[in-house]
This record gives sequence, structure tokens and C-alpha cells, in this order.
Amino acid sequence: MSLNIILMGVQGAGKGEQARFIQEKYGIPQVSTGDLFRAMKTRTDALAQRIQAIMAAGNLIDDDTTNAVVEERLAQPDAKNGVLLDGYPRTPAQAAWLDAHLASKGSKINSVLLLEIDLYTAFKRSFGRVSSDTSKRSYNIYYNAEGIDWSFEDHADGQHPPRLKATHRESGEALRRRPDDASAHAIIKRIDTFVETTQPLIDYYRSRGLVTRIYADQPIEVVTMAIQYAIDAHK
Ligand code: AMP
Repeated sequence: MSLNIILMGVQGAGKGEQARFIQEKYGIPQVSTGDLFRAMKTRTDALAQRIQAIMAAGNLIDDDTTNAVVEERLAQPDAKNGVLLDGYPRTPAQAAWLDAHLASKGSKINSVLLLEIDLYTAFKRSFGRVSSDTSKRSYNIYYNAEGIDWSFEDHADGQHPPRLKATHRESGEALRRRPDDASAHAIIKRIDTFVETTQPLIDYYRSRGLVTRIYADQPIEVVTMAIQYAIDAHK
């Protein structure tokens, strides 16, 4: 019997960490449509180029294309026991297609996990995040700033918002922000889009009793335990 899980959460809710746990514990691969699309970057065919253009504009890829990419991924041998879906489905049409597709394989969605945090916390988790290229460690100026120095520096031309600068105190290494975390405006837009697009999906799955809401502004281990409990209850 396969195990298919959907992991939902606004950026900054800690999905990455929890996805690693779920993959290891349940032996199912994480399937992220964003990653699948990004991996097509090096391809030069018309489909791949069209996808890059749509992503660059910050828009969603159309449902048929997205479903086709997911179908191909689900047919891979490592997905035979199920998958952890991340960033998919994003629309009711994708959710309906996924249901039909899984049903045709004698399978179904077992559990939908919604990692919830208040949106200002979500903003700060993304906006305050910096990391070291050498140690790969992440820090956050609001939550986890031990051992780092940080400040906001006015932009030279005065036309742009101040820039966040952070360095590792001991080594002096300049810490980096993810490019998509560097603009407050872009973070807010992503949070807005998430709230708008996710709500109809939550309604869709809730009516079938599949949704577990997990408060994610708690220690990682507590969130992990809640996830494990929810998955095991729906297996
Ligand atoms: P993500 O990494 O999940 O934020 O996805 C990055 C980009 O890939 C999105 O902004 C969309 O352009 C595209 N994308 C990812 N997943 C989907 C999806 N389920 N439906 C449509 N577009 C998607």
C-alpha cells in the first residue's frame, strides 16, 4: 500500500526540515514541482523554455503542463511506494487531476499536512535568514543570531531600502541571503499568493477529512512529532 502525503506551508514555516524527516522515516521521495521545473533550466527545448519564462515572471505554470511533469515523476521507480508532494497541487484542477490519477493506480492521498505560523513570523523567518557558504549553517537575525554580527546598511543611492549585512563573528565570513529572501516586497507577495491559492485546496481536502493543521512555531522536534502522529493516524 503506497503512502502519499501533501505538505503545505507558507515559506518560512519550516517545510524543508520536516520534509527531510518524512522522507527518511517513511522512505518516500520528496517531489517538489518547483524543483522539477528548476531542474529543466538547462534544457533548450520549447517546453522547458516556456516554463522558464513563466517562472521568471512569477506566475504559475499551466495545469496541463504541471500535471504532465508530475505524472512523469510519479512513474519513476523510487515513487512506487508513494511520495511526499511539496508545492503541488497548487490549484483545484491539479488536485482533481491528482485524485483521478492516483485512483487509476489503485492509490490515493493519505494525508495533507498544513504547517501553520502567523504571517509576520513567516515573514521574519524568510527575511532574517542568512547562511554560511562554507559551513552551510543558517542563522536568523531575529531568532538565531548567536555568533553573528548584523546591521542594516543604507543603500548608497538612497533610492532603495536599506540592505541587511551579516558576518560570522569568529571567521569574519560574510553571510549570504537567498536571493528570493532579499526583497521584503517579494516575500510579502509570495505569502499573499500562498494564502490565496492554498485556501481553496484546504477546503477541498478538509471536506474529505484529510487535513491536519500543525502549529509550526514550536521547536522542530515538537512539530516532527505532530507530523508523525498525523501520518500514522491516516496510513
Ligand atoms: P516553488 O519553488 O514551489 O515556489 O515554485 C517555483 C515556481 O515554479 C512557481 O513560482 C511556479 O512558477 C512554478 N510552480 C511550482 N509548482 C507549481 C504548481 N504546482 N503549479 C504551477 N506552477 C508551479
